[in-house]
Amino acid sequence: MKTLNDFNFKNKKALIRVDFNVPLNEKFEVTDATRIVSAKPTIIKILEDGGSCILMSHLGRPKGVQDEFSLRHIAEEVEAILGVKVKFVSECVGEKAEIAAKSLQPGEVLLLENLRFHKEEEAGDRGFSEKLANLGDIYVNDAFGTAHRAHASTTIIADFFPKSKCFGYLLAQEIESIDKVMKTGEKPVLAVLGGAKVSSKITIIENILDKVDHLIIGGGMSFTFIKAQGGKIGNSICEDDKMDLALEILKKAKAKNVQVHIPVDVIAADAFSNDANTQVVDIDKIPDGWEGVDAGPKSIKQFHDVVMKSKTILWNGPLGVFEMESFAKGTIALGNSIAEATKNGAFSLVGGGDSVAAVKQFGFEDKVSYVSTGGGAMLESLEGIVLPGIAAIIE
Ligand code: AMP
Repeated sequence: MKTLNDFNFKNKKALIRVDFNVPLNEKFEVTDATRIVSAKPTIIKILEDGGSCILMSHLGRPKGVQDEFSLRHIAEEVEAILGVKVKFVSECVGEKAEIAAKSLQPGEVLLLENLRFHKEEEAGDRGFSEKLANLGDIYVNDAFGTAHRAHASTTIIADFFPKSKCFGYLLAQEIESIDKVMKTGEKPVLAVLGGAKVSSKITIIENILDKVDHLIIGGGMSFTFIKAQGGKIGNSICEDDKMDLALEILKKAKAKNVQVHIPVDVIAADAFSNDANTQVVDIDKIPDGWEGVDAGPKSIKQFHDVVMKSKTILWNGPLGVFEMESFAKGTIALGNSIAEATKNGAFSLVGGGDSVAAVKQFGFEDKVSYVSTGGGAMLESLEGIVLPGIAAIIE
């Protein structure tokens, strides 16, 4: 696996695919700059080597050229975060882009216009990829968030740099973190899978059964397992058509010696609302008219014990409806347990959509080992798929 440290960028133009698809408010100000901050170490290393950086990214889902999706809106923020002047060019391919790239001097940074202003980007068009490739000497992919897409700038472009392509620090760190859970992690390995639906996590569960010693199935997903085993779940969310699958998973887990932990009690609410009436009940005895919305106290204790004895922990998906303050306790308690285990030396990776939002919201970001920057890319990695953007660099 080639990384930045395998190259000296002196007098080289690095063409870097970054993921600057950041959220903007109505004044076009960046409201969460995590992705820009995450790309900084890569950019700084190249500049310190004596090279220059050409940054390319997409922003949003424009239909053709739409100014509201222009990357010029974020140029100032990128400049402030890097502490280096950032030149912006209003094209990513074409004459203006070529001139701007050609005249770039060592130590300088150039930001190209939104790649998705051209439909060729998402189509993975070869001609478009070649035009982009002509702008730089070394291709660096540091965009984990789009590594699961075979787009021009994330995958196809790598063909034009047979000997001079590598991962940036961020992407390398993402790959290492996933490998720590899936391949090299110290045992016992634990995966906590929560969230709403079994159907969206099924491929992950199947893939992960070969890698883990413990599996916690929490959140809305757990009710399909409970009902499948004959429990009463009241109005809790459930995928009836996935009950056979749930039983199958439990059987497979047993055969593979994976210990599965499902909540034993829940906070049941009489409405899907923050001010609903609540009661603690056994998860398999939820009264009619009530629904399970968060992990109960016995479950929190049960999960804490499993987390504390694990040396490698993957967390994907909340344990309850954490968006409502009244039902966030289970998710927060799990975050606290994982933070404590991490402090004691465990490796913890949080990834994929809502668990990342929860970790940020409740302030656990610096208390776990690694928070993934890619939602879909992370989920596909956990499903065991080799992402095209990663394969294109490794081959
Ligand atoms: P996912 O995107 O599959 O990780 O699911 C995340 C969503 O699951 C969040 O919006 C949570 O509110 C939701 N969720 C977690 N537990 C429950 C539950 N017991 N009932 C309904 N929704 C839940």
